[in-house]
Amino acid sequence: MMLVLAGRLVYLMIFESEYYQELAQDLHERERSIKAARGRIIDRTGTVLADNRTVCTISVIHSQIEDPEAVIEMLCRELGLSEETVRARVEKVSSIERIQSNVDKEIGDAIRSYHYAGVKVDEDFKRYYPYNELASKVLGFTGSDNQGIIGLEVMYDEYLEGIPGTILTLTDARGIEIENAKEGRVESVPGNDLMVSLDYNIQFYAQQEALRVMEAKQAEYVSILIMNPQTGEIYACVNVPEFNLNDPFTLNTGGDTSSMTEEQKQDALNRMWRNQSVNDTYEPGSTFKIFTSSAALLTGTCTLQDHFSCPGYKIVEDRRIRCHKVGGHGGQDFTHAIMNSCNPRIQKYCLHSFHFCPPALRRGLLYV
Ligand SMILES: [Zn+2]
Repeated sequence: MMLVLAGRLVYLMIFESEYYQELAQDLHERERSIKAARGRIIDRTGTVLADNRTVCTISVIHSQIEDPEAVIEMLCRELGLSEETVRARVEKVSSIERIQSNVDKEIGDAIRSYHYAGVKVDEDFKRYYPYNELASKVLGFTGSDNQGIIGLEVMYDEYLEGIPGTILTLTDARGIEIENAKEGRVESVPGNDLMVSLDYNIQFYAQQEALRVMEAKQAEYVSILIMNPQTGEIYACVNVPEFNLNDPFTLNTGGDTSSMTEEQKQDALNRMWRNQSVNDTYEPGSTFKIFTSSAALLTGTCTLQDHFSCPGYKIVEDRRIRCHKVGGHGGQDFTHAIMNSCNPRIQKYCLHSFHFCPPALRRGLLYV
């Protein structure tokens, strides 16, 4: 019998030790996480476009509360919550229960000043956008757990997010903190800052201009993209109407969402968040003639002295492409054809190399 018992002990203490150690640790240690400060987003002039604000998370530890009625009354008053909500959480038997997160620091400090046993106030961070609407669709915003949802915030999430820390408290089997036991603390690691090529001033000016045009043309939306052609750096990317990054779940149209289904509301939000400059296709039209003309000159398909005749249209494969001048431009040389932005002229030399073009470009060329 001793042999069997000894065997069982060896099994439990050696082979299963890790498993039981973990269970015991779970029971004796209460873990509260410390949020990491998310990296800031900074423009080329050093202006901070996305920052963090200190906020508090209020939790209660059931087994430590001495005067539940006073705690409930105080939390209702300070947080403006209904008694029902607070009571349900305070009276729930659990190791730790979160009452509310993203509470202003002043309110958090006020709650802490009561020194009620069992009420914990932990500081963490909330994303904050100092310029509300500026470059909203480019920057994007974060969700309740500080993870990026759209835009640069999600694109560079892994660099911005940082590593959360933890506070470990030792408790006895009933979940009561052991006095004088050392509180273990693993500090959080803040995320990296993200420097972007946007320029606050140019972005702001372009936004004003876009709003003016939208008003004048009664447009649904207006996009402006300002790029340094030497480097490809984007100085401004405006898509009005923008939305308020500090309140991204409220529709910028001011429309009433109460009659919408959940799906309709999500659709409307997705439309509002959409960065048209990046996501929508845009027919380049005559601006693309720069590419075809350069290609024609570069390959020697035509020269500046070549003459073209424009009767007002040109048949290309199965379609008739018209020139913007109905009667046609008549005879003209390369320079004048470009000056007049004449359409039939461009197809003449494009067709020479047409069959070597990849299909997508072919379609583009046809429409130019
Ligand atoms: Zn023409």
